[in-house]
Amino acid sequence: MITKPKGTYDILPDESRSWAKLEDTIRKICKLYNYKEIRTPIFESFDVFHRDQNDTSDMVTKETYDFKDRSDRQITLRPEGTAGVARAFVENKLYVDNPVSKLFYMGPMFRYERPQKGRNRQFNQFGVEALGSDSPLIDAEVISLGASLIRALGLKDIKVKINSLGDEESRNSYRDVLVKHFSSHVDDLCEDCKVRLEKNPLRILDCKVDRDKDFFKTAPKINDYLNKESKERFDAVLEALDGMDLQYEVDYNLVRGLDYYCHTVFELEANIPEFGAGNVLGAGGRYDKLISDLGGPKTPSVGMAFGLERLLLANSLSGKKLVNEDTIHAYFIALGEKAAKETTKIMNVCRIGGLSCDMDYLSGSLKSQFKKADKNNAMFTLILGDNELEEFKINIKDNRTDEQETISLYDVYPYIVNKLNKAALGACAGCDKKEK
Ligand code: AMP
Repeated sequence: MITKPKGTYDILPDESRSWAKLEDTIRKICKLYNYKEIRTPIFESFDVFHRDQNDTSDMVTKETYDFKDRSDRQITLRPEGTAGVARAFVENKLYVDNPVSKLFYMGPMFRYERPQKGRNRQFNQFGVEALGSDSPLIDAEVISLGASLIRALGLKDIKVKINSLGDEESRNSYRDVLVKHFSSHVDDLCEDCKVRLEKNPLRILDCKVDRDKDFFKTAPKINDYLNKESKERFDAVLEALDGMDLQYEVDYNLVRGLDYYCHTVFELEANIPEFGAGNVLGAGGRYDKLISDLGGPKTPSVGMAFGLERLLLANSLSGKKLVNEDTIHAYFIALGEKAAKETTKIMNVCRIGGLSCDMDYLSGSLKSQFKKADKNNAMFTLILGDNELEEFKINIKDNRTDEQETISLYDVYPYIVNKLNKAALGACAGCDKKEK
């Protein structure tokens, strides 16, 4: 038997409706904030992700799927969405018509990580990118969009962790003191952090290995090194969040995994006890130089990404179901070949009229066909045998009331529609009385 590659999984029919509903929810929220979808290739040129020799992130240095295609082109499966969107933004000159592009994407990403619970080698992300504005208000908008999504999934106690990495000048002065601090503890640093000390010392603050060591806690904090403009900008982001009643917590150790971030960085958490430490549902930050690094004009930008698997898991733990039980309108039980042929004609009429129907193509026994009607959660079960067929009639059972009737084959469609309409009217307060 051929099995799926390690770190991948199948989304089976029972789960795929939740995926579709999550995607639908995301699209609705993006519409509320006026973000438009962009779809970029799943594989890109190697250079899209490996531009910066100093990039020390695990994702770029250790986890990309890189390969040569049959014409010897160096290709990388996308490990994240931002770089591909940025490449497309520059290549298609999206900046020409719109000074600000508000985009979102959704789809599979690939990272060669050690597979474990909640970590896969193929996984899905949703992300937004707001390109072209350096307003602190748009940073707050992106965070607010993320919080709205979490709320729509029925999760409460949303926590925004936020920090500012400041502008280049601020980061340079912070970097100097940080290098000085960690250099005096170099022997205690993990191997990765020794490299980070050389290439990107801010990333040491992200280290999961060294995090709890004492010299970590005494490390200088970025907020003491933000220059006046960076401080004012950060305050403006926080003020905008206050204005939207979004709770946040400033975390001076938050630097985020990617090397291109500046100013605002943030993580969005929901209180999910089952998740333990892995509460982060989405995260992002401002990246003002990425677009120009890729050959585009100066384009200050901010973005955020969520893992869809984690959002679904979080939703299933929240108690607010994304989808109700799957149902169909009608399940047909045909007894005999002639009845089966006639049933396909009736189903065709019903489907054209918008009713979902199915029948048993295995010609099973009456009992097994009833079971299938049940399994499909059919609202109506229809039984057509030779006797009924001779009289051009069919037996129909309303599974919600157990009411049974024999009706003309011509009446199947109007009968079901009429019953559904009555039920819909009955569901609206006061209408049921009129109906009686
Ligand atoms: P990142 O792009 O690393 O900031 O990740 C953003 C979100 O994507 C995380 O919060 C996770 O929910 C999700 N994510 C990242 N890597 C994986 C993975 N290997 N498997 C599943 N989800 C992931």
